[in-house]
Amino acid sequence: MAPRVVVIGLASDFGCQVQMTNIEDDLLDVLGLIDLQYWQLASSGHMPDSYDVAIVEGAVTTLEHIATLERVRATASAVIAIGACAVTGGIPALASHGRLEERYSLVYGDGPSVAPGRIKPQAVDSVIDVDYRIPGCPIDMGEFVQVLSRALQGLSDHLPQEPLCAICKTKENVCFYERGEVCLGVLTRTGCDARCVSLGRPCTGCRGLAEDANLESALRLLDERGIDTSDVLVRARLYNTLEEAFTR
Ligand code: SF4
Ligand code: SF4
Repeated sequence: MAPRVVVIGLASDFGCQVQMTNIEDDLLDVLGLIDLQYWQLASSGHMPDSYDVAIVEGAVTTLEHIATLERVRATASAVIAIGACAVTGGIPALASHGRLEERYSLVYGDGPSVAPGRIKPQAVDSVIDVDYRIPGCPIDMGEFVQVLSRALQGLSDHLPQEPLCAICKTKENVCFYERGEVCLGVLTRTGCDARCVSLGRPCTGCRGLAEDANLESALRLLDERGIDTSDVLVRARLYNTLEEAFTR
């Protein structure tokens, strides 16, 4: 029997689920391997009670999300978090600092107040154990197919560890710091093939902090080059605001 898969969206713009429709050539192969029972973006039916693999997109922003995740964890043998919102809290997590009421009034003034059941945005693995993570905003479809295949075969998670600069160097890109521009490749987890940098745009850190990123060292080096490190920190918080290094 093919593994039964569900795709669930929490708080996000559904960009990673839309990205999943771009698998193109691989889509039929992937669909041939699984029994796709529910895809929130594309299904009109209800979530089934029983399934094997749950793919979760989006940050946790409500008590209902927590209850959903607890049900998912109790049911699925493999949980895959996809996209920056699910993996690091992503952009929704920018609202996690201070009191939620204050964040609402900053945006809406005297408009709508915090709805019952709303909580500070957080990553999926702060609520339940996650077996596989696919970072990025949006996810890379090659990586999605690889990770889903690993999950279907019961192989362990295999997240790239090193910072993006390691791959960027092999692409022979001219470093943005040579031009005095900020690029977050020094801190960011590789795995995207240095996509933005190779297209001429600095990395904004959507894949989260690299496991062996040395924030203090990187900031010291950049400071020595005359780069405004406070600007680097502000930019790095965009996708990484819940990282311990930024909550001190
Ligand atoms: S800082 Fe950016 S441009 Fe420079 S090497 Fe690293 S990834 Fe490439
Ligand atoms: S280069 Fe940086 S911003 Fe672009 S996809 Fe890779 S990690 Fe994300």
